[in-house]
Amino acid sequence: DKYLQGLDKSRRSFGDRIRALSNNFHGIDDDLLEELMVILLEGDVGIQTAQKIVDSFEEHSNELKNFDSMEDYFIYILYEFYDDVPEEYIHFNPDGPTVILMVGVNGSGKTTTSAKLLQLYQSLGKKVAVAAADTFRAGAIDQIDTWAQRIGVPCIKGKPGQDPSSVLVDACRYAKENDIDILIGDTAGRLQNKKNLMKELEKMTRVIGREIEGAPQEVWLVLDATTGQNGISQAQVFLDATHVTGIVLTKMDGTAKGGVVLSIHDMLHLPVRFLGLGEKPEDLRPFDVASYIMGMTK
Ligand code: GDP
Repeated sequence: DKYLQGLDKSRRSFGDRIRALSNNFHGIDDDLLEELMVILLEGDVGIQTAQKIVDSFEEHSNELKNFDSMEDYFIYILYEFYDDVPEEYIHFNPDGPTVILMVGVNGSGKTTTSAKLLQLYQSLGKKVAVAAADTFRAGAIDQIDTWAQRIGVPCIKGKPGQDPSSVLVDACRYAKENDIDILIGDTAGRLQNKKNLMKELEKMTRVIGREIEGAPQEVWLVLDATTGQNGISQAQVFLDATHVTGIVLTKMDGTAKGGVVLSIHDMLHLPVRFLGLGEKPEDLRPFDVASYIMGMTK
């Protein structure tokens, strides 16, 4: 299964080590807790989150006897840790186009993820379009336009350097006139200047809301999993700048740092919507906790 394959690297460094620990298990003591902590940290779970998981592992130790192995008990602890918030569904606009705005730093995978989402929603029978509103990165417009042509969906684009908001206005109008179900907005993410970034994001969401009531329904922050904990501090800038509703974690296939999902959940309090598991348009999977935890461990 692609989901599990995509997590191969993480599983090898995380799951295999937990299993080895479990095979030599002879009781919960300080050495074991320390070893667990190291495995979690090296999987990029982050110090605060790792500590919470280890504490919970220790606190619930009277339940250990109900499991076949320490490994299975640990997996149960991970589930418990993750499952404490109800799943939040994606908001789709019942009376017109749903706008999903993609935000994140350059290179995180926004354009690739936009292409993947176009392909996914089109395959689900939705009428989709994309706004090439990353007018700053050289080649971004051509990149998404090429994907759109290949997938066979309309791409609304401006000129390099054009105000991204004006591209989004054009795209919203196109979406309304052509009964588009889902409009994906691919934006630029220059972190160098936080004030400009905030202003630009604020303007983009404002003009979209003026064209389509309640839009953008979703603002997804694209994070590169290979950047691990650094990605989380980057994320904070975007959370301060705009109303982010979910996370897409890309390049999960290229990293052993898959544990970062656990700290995103714990630190950012935002649902992970999708995982990027490769460079091709089909390499995108809706996130679900069970597949994720299994992918990381078994
Ligand atoms: P943007 O600047 O945020 O639009 O980033 P791009 O979409 O151009 O992606 C940057 C690079 O990351 C490209 O080479 C993509 O092919 C690659 N990439 C994006 N998502 C994934 C993924 O899930 N897995 C892998 N292995 N590469 C990815």
